[in-house]
Order: sequence, then structure tokens, then C-alpha cells
Amino acid sequence: MRAEHEAGATTSGALRAHNRARLLRAVHDCGASLTRSQLTRDLGLARGTASVLVGELAESGLLHEEPAPEHGRGRPTQVPGPHPRGPIALAVDVREDAWEVAACELGGRATVLEVRPHDGTPEGALVPLGAALRGHLERLAPRVVGTGVALAGPVRPGGLVDIAHLRWSSVDVPGLLALPQAPELQAPPRIPASQAPEPQAPPRIPASQALEPRPPSRHALPRPLVVGNDTAFAGLAEARRGELRGVAVGLHLHVDFDLGGTLIVDGRPLAGATGVGAEFGHMPLIGGDAPCMCGAYGCWGQEVGTNALLRHLGLTHGGGRGRDHAERLLSAATVGDEGAVRAVTSCAEALGRGVSALVNAHDPEVVTLSGFGVDLHRLALPQLTERFERGLMAIRRERPPRLAPSALGWRGSLIGAMESVFDAFLTVDAVDQWRRAHT
Ligand SMILES: [Zn+2]
Repeated sequence: MRAEHEAGATTSGALRAHNRARLLRAVHDCGASLTRSQLTRDLGLARGTASVLVGELAESGLLHEEPAPEHGRGRPTQVPGPHPRGPIALAVDVREDAWEVAACELGGRATVLEVRPHDGTPEGALVPLGAALRGHLERLAPRVVGTGVALAGPVRPGGLVDIAHLRWSSVDVPGLLALPQAPELQAPPRIPASQAPEPQAPPRIPASQALEPRPPSRHALPRPLVVGNDTAFAGLAEARRGELRGVAVGLHLHVDFDLGGTLIVDGRPLAGATGVGAEFGHMPLIGGDAPCMCGAYGCWGQEVGTNALLRHLGLTHGGGRGRDHAERLLSAATVGDEGAVRAVTSCAEALGRGVSALVNAHDPEVVTLSGFGVDLHRLALPQLTERFERGLMAIRRERPPRLAPSALGWRGSLIGAMESVFDAFLTVDAVDQWRRAHT
């Protein structure tokens, strides 16, 4: 059995724990679409072993099997999927003008819980979001295994975020969200309750937002908060569930008010030495010398996205406002309005030129576009492609990478935030902690 030779699983108990985490990971990654026998084969498990593992995971509320919708003769095939009382990852996409919270189950199904506009300030966006999240955590406990938050700017260690065009500078996201702290994920297992460290006291919350405290549980689960860049999350989602699945080197670009990008290498966004790599939107890729709010001049992101579309039509832009205008403008371009078509074409050409520069540098196999990038691809593909191909080195023109709209639409950042939470949960230690708390 292949798994028996894997490092770190030397006793039968450790091997079982290792295989439980592998099986859950496989169910999650396939979107709960594979039958038990397919998973058994893919993971190199014996049939009896798989049956025991599924039984254990079902008993502790981690998996639930349903009969496959279609099967041939013989016994019905079972499809392992999320348990109705199983783990939930809270995923949040904080855009410049609104935030969205979703509850995501193992397998990736996301249910949107709440969408709310905000005023673009750190306090105006994050304090009400924190209150909303505390409410969801309270209501959904003890199912929540973590919260992932996507933001439209580079995220430094400790969850410090800069969003230049909203004038956010070193904003302490965990501090403003003020979520109740959970014990560390790496807490050593099996500490007798009498010796276990007390869960950390929740941060002080203004009386107006205070929630009824929940009695600390002896089996309190770790609930990490993961804060990340929206484009890096969107790229991660594309690598797990979209057009970059199985792609060794891919380039993902997310267009909203401006443009962000990430390079996906072996399924993960390339983060850089301090976690803020791949700020492709802030490179002078297409000429120009206009000052950017990031402090540099001639940034590519100034020419692609809502801000650029509105600027082309002489409309007010900036500050994370004008999404409705941009959507109307894209609709007008769809029916051939001349001014709107010109604005869209200009953005698509700027996008194509920048992509060619990045392709020359990184040699990706596929380039994916999300957010308004999907609309630029749909409305101005010939112009986008022409500029893209013209910027390529001759050696790349023979087999240029495919330009593909995202398979996940606007949901990529949210799904990537979810994946980052499940990445922390689908480990031997965290799964065992859940089992001890739920069996
Ligand atoms: Zn810039």
C-alpha cells in the first residue's frame, strides 16, 4: 500500500490519521464528486481500509455519504461529501466598495451569508465586518474551522494591508476585525483538560457591539484567521478549481477598479520573500508616466479596470467608487455604443500589452482573467489578442500561452480565501482535534 511508505506515518494509528486527512483532502479537492471506489483507487487504499476510514469520518461529523446519482447494476455506489454538521470555512471578499461573507463546506460549496456596502475607510469597512463575523462565528460554532479574508492590496506579515487608491496604509486587519482568538493550530494534542492553557481572552469590543460571551469549551477548536491578497486568492482558486488546475506555471490577472496579478507555480501563488510579491499592476509595463497612488509612476494598473474605463469617458473615478457606472458602460459596449466600445477597447489593448511583457518574463502555460477581465475578453478579444501577440518575443509566437476567462467569475477571491482555511484544517493534527471535539 503506497501510503504506508509515506514519511511521518510509522505506526498503524498514525497511518490511519494520515489517511483520514488524505481522504478528506481528496473529497474536498474533487468537489465531493468522486465515488468512494474512485477515491479508494486514487489514494491507493485497500477497500476495507477505506470503509473503516469513511466510517470514522462519518461518525465524527466530517463526511457524509450519498448514493451516486447514476450507477450500473449491483450495489449502489456511494459518494463521500460534506457532513450536514461538518466543518465550515468562513470566507470574506473585501472589495473597495463592499464586502461579502460566505460559509463554505468541505468540497467547496459556498453559501453567501451577507453582502454589505462600505464607505471605503478601514474602520467603515472592517469594524462592521468584524461584528458580522463574530455573529456568524457565534451562530455557526462549533462548526467553523477558520476565517479567510481577501483584500484588494498587498498583505504584509501580521495582516497589515495597504490599499493605495483607498489611502489605506499599514491597516491592522486582525486588530480592526477583533475576532475572538482560538487556541493555536499547533497546540500539542492530548493535553489533559486540567493542564490545558486557557483560551485567550477576546479583545475588548465596544459595548455597542458586544456579543453575549460563549462559555469557553474544553474542546475549543483552532479557528485561524487568514488574511490575503484578493488576486493571490483568486489565482489559488483558479489553480484548485478552475482553468489553472494541473498547470505548472500560470499567470492570473484580476481586473476590478484597477488590475492585480499573481504567478501560480505548482498550484500556489508565488508570494515573494515577504508575502507581497507579484504586484504586476504596479509595473510600468506599457509606457506612460502618470503618477500612481502607490508612489510609483506609469503603473500598468492605471490603464486597466473601472478607473480607466470611467476616465476614458470623462466620468468621476477613483476612491473605490463607480462600479455601477462601469457595469452600465460594459452593457453599453455590448450593444455597440461607440464611446463605451472605445473605452473598453483601450483597456483591452492595455491589458494585452502588459500580458505580453509578463509572458515574455515568466513563460506561463495559461493566462487567466477574472473580474472585469472576463468582460474585456468577451467584448474585445481581437484587440486584446492583437496587442498581446505583437508584444511577444518571436520565440514565443509559435505557441503562445492560452488566454482564458476565469471559470469562477467574481467568486475566485472568495473561493481562494476558503481554500486557505481548509489548507490549515486538512492536516493530521487539525482533523484529529476536530474528531476529539466531535466524537
Ligand atoms: Zn502603482
